Amino acid sequence: MSLFRGKRPVLRTLFVLITVMLLVAGISAQALAASPKYVFLFIGDGMALPQLNAAEIYLHARESDDPGVRKLNITRMPHQGLTTTYAADSFITDSAAAGTALSTGFKTNSGVIAMDPSKKESYETVAEIAKKRGMKVGIVSSVSIDHATPACFYAHEPSRKNYHEIGMQLAVSDFDYFAGGGLKKPLSADGKTDTYKAAEKNGFTVTRTREDFLALKPGIGKVFAVSPELDGDKALDYAIDGQPITLEEFTRKGIELLDGPQGFFIMVEGGKIDWACHANDAVTTIKDTLAFDEAVAAGLEFAASHPEETLVVVTGDHETGGLTIGFAGTKYSTYLDYLGGQTMSFIAFDKVLDEYRKTTPPGDAKLEDLKEEIEDAFGLVLLTEDERKQLELLAANGDRKAQERLYFALTKEERQNIEKAFVRSMNKEEERAGDNETYLIYGGYEPLTVALTHTLNHKAGLAWTTYAHTGVPVATFAQGAGAEQFAGYYDNTDIGKKLINAVGAKALTASR
Ligand SMILES: [Zn+2]
Repeated sequence: MSLFRGKRPVLRTLFVLITVMLLVAGISAQALAASPKYVFLFIGDGMALPQLNAAEIYLHARESDDPGVRKLNITRMPHQGLTTTYAADSFITDSAAAGTALSTGFKTNSGVIAMDPSKKESYETVAEIAKKRGMKVGIVSSVSIDHATPACFYAHEPSRKNYHEIGMQLAVSDFDYFAGGGLKKPLSADGKTDTYKAAEKNGFTVTRTREDFLALKPGIGKVFAVSPELDGDKALDYAIDGQPITLEEFTRKGIELLDGPQGFFIMVEGGKIDWACHANDAVTTIKDTLAFDEAVAAGLEFAASHPEETLVVVTGDHETGGLTIGFAGTKYSTYLDYLGGQTMSFIAFDKVLDEYRKTTPPGDAKLEDLKEEIEDAFGLVLLTEDERKQLELLAANGDRKAQERLYFALTKEERQNIEKAFVRSMNKEEERAGDNETYLIYGGYEPLTVALTHTLNHKAGLAWTTYAHTGVPVATFAQGAGAEQFAGYYDNTDIGKKLINAVGAKALTASR
């Protein structure tokens, strides 16, 4: 007894030591398993379950009249989680606070890029940590590359609106590949600094044509590949309107250029899923979600050839629009075939309308003039009362074409709403979106276009609650090395922490 009593503290110490060693061994074994060489993070901006599900039912409805979904590449991934998205200062987040959570594992205020809520301390991002650890880093987005979500991976700014400052941080960055949209404010206020020139000076090859983009080969060094065509916000056009280089192609090129023994971290954002949801245009958001899904497919294809070494994570930063499957006017029914009639985005139709407004004196303007344009863009048929009666007669006699035209025809009530919106659209901009009631109906967008997308969506059985973001959780999907840890219900900051773990910086995350 006395012999053992004396040795007990030693034994206890030994026991503790062995336990610690076992724990450490266990953690590093786990960390090793979760330390993939290649890490992809795909962020669908404004993409939660409704956006994914709308895309799934749209695909299914093209092939079948029965209810069902055709799964996306994203929704086929084996591990799923639910993710809360609130910001430090508001339940409904913006993309800056959400992007910061995903890139750093920290909550911050809406509008802040990878800094703390007091805007004094910069948070290190998963992309910066990956770079420090010798991995190659790529940042791809369908919106301007200085926009909030991509910025959260390479910049630190108190305001997302500091586009020039954000762009300059890209220019001096040691990341390997930036691609997709351009820069919103390449010139400094005094006109002396040009971000594109600064980037070239820092060793970036900047490409602006499809030809130059395709010619990029591994070994080229740092690349900033800008879409040959950009919209007014320096983003890619919507997928539905056609793009000279798609998000998928930008992603594939990133993989081609960054693949190598050091591994890579690639973030790809589908940024305009959000923008189309702000405008309440379901078909445009579905097409951008499908384009994003193709980019994810490129990542999954790479993962299939490096299954043990690759982690692919797909998430949204928040939901936008309050999109849902179900509308009061259609009760339990959906008529998704209506969606197939839309051929262009709301913004492309705005241009058609703008052209008409420019060439038509307000007194002469009538909705009838845009009949063909509306049918071409949205598949919706405007009928006079006489036309309707004639078609009804033909339809009653079994005329299939007449039946189909009647199906796509606007009801009297729908037509009245659209007439009202047309009158508003013909008024000057200031008169259009001034008061609160008008905002509730048109959200500050072109009244006629919003009335048309709302009508089309409602006919299909889809509806919206807002022109802003919502606070519902998003869905997260994962596949590959360490993907199991993305199952469950957790916060968006946990994704940041897990990704930082995945690129191998365990010590940094211990305090988060
Ligand atoms: Zn948004």
